[in-house]
Amino acid sequence: MRPAPTILHLDMDAFYASAEQAAKPSLRGKAVVVGGLGPRGVVATASYEARRLGVHSAMPTAQARRLAPNAAYLVPRFSLYRTVSEQVMGLLGRLSPLVEPLSLDEAFVDLEAGGTADDAASARATGEGLRAAIHAVTGLSGSVGLAGSKMLAKIASEQAKPDGLVLIEPGTERDLLAPLSVRVLPGVGPATGDHLRRAGMTTVHDLAEAGEAELVRLVGKAHGHGLHRMALGLDDRPVVAERDAKSVSVEDTFDVDLHDRVRVRAEVERLAVRCVERLRAADRSGRTVVLKVRRYDFSTLTRSETLRGPTDDPTVVREAAGRLLESVDTTGGVRLLGVGVTGLADFTQEDLFAQAADARELARRAVEEREPAGGDGGRESEPEPEPEEPSEPLAARRWPAGHDVHHEAHGHGWVQGSGVGRVTVRFEQPWSAPGRVLTFRVDDPRLLPADPLPLVREPPDYSSWPASLPKSRSGPDPAAGGLSSP
Ligand SMILES: [Mg+2]
Repeated sequence: MRPAPTILHLDMDAFYASAEQAAKPSLRGKAVVVGGLGPRGVVATASYEARRLGVHSAMPTAQARRLAPNAAYLVPRFSLYRTVSEQVMGLLGRLSPLVEPLSLDEAFVDLEAGGTADDAASARATGEGLRAAIHAVTGLSGSVGLAGSKMLAKIASEQAKPDGLVLIEPGTERDLLAPLSVRVLPGVGPATGDHLRRAGMTTVHDLAEAGEAELVRLVGKAHGHGLHRMALGLDDRPVVAERDAKSVSVEDTFDVDLHDRVRVRAEVERLAVRCVERLRAADRSGRTVVLKVRRYDFSTLTRSETLRGPTDDPTVVREAAGRLLESVDTTGGVRLLGVGVTGLADFTQEDLFAQAADARELARRAVEEREPAGGDGGRESEPEPEPEEPSEPLAARRWPAGHDVHHEAHGHGWVQGSGVGRVTVRFEQPWSAPGRVLTFRVDDPRLLPADPLPLVREPPDYSSWPASLPKSRSGPDPAAGGLSSP
């Protein structure tokens, strides 16, 4: 805990869905769901309009369709999200050398270490400046939390959502935390929350009052000790730049203990893909895949597998995590799952062999391997490639909903849907008015997959932002790549 609120937590608002709405004028103000569209698909992000209908991330897409039948259902476009993420992380890197990304759209920044803020006033000014810069460069909004610790900064950004900034003055943490639900504390998911509630503890104040011994008795030694410290607002975890980190991991706590083995497996696979996203956001790769499972009785197991070489391939990490799960007994229920990659390297094995690997193809593969073609009988199902033209690239024959296309006569658009030999395209661009819809045969030679367009046609030059920074800090600049990428 530091005396000034100089730890910043940035979280982009409904990131994938907001990026899609920015790219597709006809979807602004509408319910948009981005995620896996196959039978076992889950929601990655829902727009705020879809959230009002009860849709949230990690919900099975089939359930989302029942709640929001008229929403637009889109397959993620990771190449776009990665480009925007690089722009955002580039701006964060201008504020401090200590930036800890948590995913493509979320990071901690140590402003004090960067010399950009040393008190509440300068921290607030920096946070507002950052929000303006992100909006100017990416066209999207992000929320900012500022506090003296990572835990509080993250709670603050959650309270700031959407499109806001909340600063928690050091010294006010305990009072601020006291009335909040135990669920705001890191590591307290719905299952632990229920467990604590049955013991009569619903607020952070209750936990602080219960004392460490009681919490250890309830949830185990490791968890109980940490929980008590968090309840007192004590959190000394430093912001660790990803390049200095020894591992990257993601974990999720579940609303109810998971008993269904198929669901457990699906969650592990989803976490593996998220973990790889984070790995890639930091331009890293790793050799050892780790699976963490906390069971119904709070016993926690970890299993690991070391690969022959470093990887950042979602398929490799997902399969390794799946193999590790086979060795874990999950009968009785699972309340938390985590997937991590350790033994990080600064480049990937694949880069050595395939410098020119098409990022779009990689992203598509990551999605499609989760949803084998032809496995979905629904209306979004993708046509099989036609065998009579084996020389045609496979990618050219697939029309995932939401992905970009270019038509010889009509220009740039996106796939609204496909099936029964037809593909429906809406022709519009991020800076155009909502466009019209046309339908083509899936093998129309004038229609080709295209790269995403930038969300902001001419992003302003932020290469000398923030102006107050000493020039000597402009070392290797991650922003340069993101801002000028073709
Ligand atoms: Mg977010």
